[in-house]
Amino acid sequence: MKKPRKTRTARAAFAQRVKKLHRALGKAGLDETAGFLVAANSNIEYFCGFTGSCGFLLISPDSAVLYTDGRYTTQAKTQALGVAVCESTQRPLDQLISDLKKQRVRRLGVEENRISYALVQTLRRQLRRTRIEPLNGLVEQLRLVKTADEIQKIRRAARLNSRAFDDVCARASAEWTEARFAAEVDFTFWSLGADGPAFETIVASGPHSALPHARARPQSITPDSLVVVDHGAILDGYNSDMTRTICFGRIGSEQRRIFQGVYEAQKAAVDQVRSGVKAATVDQAARKVIEAFGLEDAFPHATGHGVGLEIHEQPRVGAGEQTRLTSGMVITIEPGAYVEGVGGVRIEDLLLVTKTGCEILSRTPRRLRIL
Ligand code: ZN
Ligand code: ZN
Repeated sequence: MKKPRKTRTARAAFAQRVKKLHRALGKAGLDETAGFLVAANSNIEYFCGFTGSCGFLLISPDSAVLYTDGRYTTQAKTQALGVAVCESTQRPLDQLISDLKKQRVRRLGVEENRISYALVQTLRRQLRRTRIEPLNGLVEQLRLVKTADEIQKIRRAARLNSRAFDDVCARASAEWTEARFAAEVDFTFWSLGADGPAFETIVASGPHSALPHARARPQSITPDSLVVVDHGAILDGYNSDMTRTICFGRIGSEQRRIFQGVYEAQKAAVDQVRSGVKAATVDQAARKVIEAFGLEDAFPHATGHGVGLEIHEQPRVGAGEQTRLTSGMVITIEPGAYVEGVGGVRIEDLLLVTKTGCEILSRTPRRLRIL
């Protein structure tokens, strides 16, 4: 039976990625006899589309085999493209080790930044004749620049994310708790066809909003205060991320000044985004404005991060980051200022880096929304 076109296209895209990995392995000094063990779930998904939470993907010079456990075998057989699925009843790790022994793999690259120390010890103990070679961020480098298909998926996820936020704001009530607001956002994600929330939705009001990663509380939203709402939807496997600061009622002059500082810092950073610009330069642009507002001690995190199959990816848009932005990268720009006892503001957009600037994928206005 002929495979549908979508499947054929996806299979070709995965094959392309594996090819790129082989090239990168060659550059990293691993010869053509070496294997590479992919252990991070998102990296496995990147190479073959499998989304199960347990698995190893062994990429050898002429084959790729996915090892997973009985809970995922059926799923893997239909979902994973371009790889063989091992159907052993043994534990995936045991089967993997036994295959590596049989194949007499002399060198095995592993994802240093993704696997546990315990796993490395097991591999070293059981594979006495194999040299385990830690490699850092190899697959993450491949994932930095998105393909047209990935960009389209992220664009749609961002659109859904904005729509969910706008829908919830339109029906939000001052009687709601922070947790209720967060639940409404998540509920709307599901209703609009998302795969689900990308992370625990943040809704933080009053002084609580001064915690950059606050957890929504089961208590009423503080009226006349800054309310930070940070949320992301996953659609078709790809993440989106956006933060808006809103208010039920009105805010005082100090809070307004914090808002203005972050608003201008965000704009200054967005204006710097363009292919060829260093990530540090973008971060610096935001930091300079924050400083001009006397808020330099209130901005404790990086200006942004990459987004894709994971909510936090490379590149980090932070102080000292030498990575140059490149067309096709998808990043957030999200400066914030958090003043203890008063409250916090964060404004976050999702951006596609282009040759001449950027395309802002978040669709919601950045202004302070008064509800
Ligand atoms: Zn966010
Ligand atoms: Zn973010």
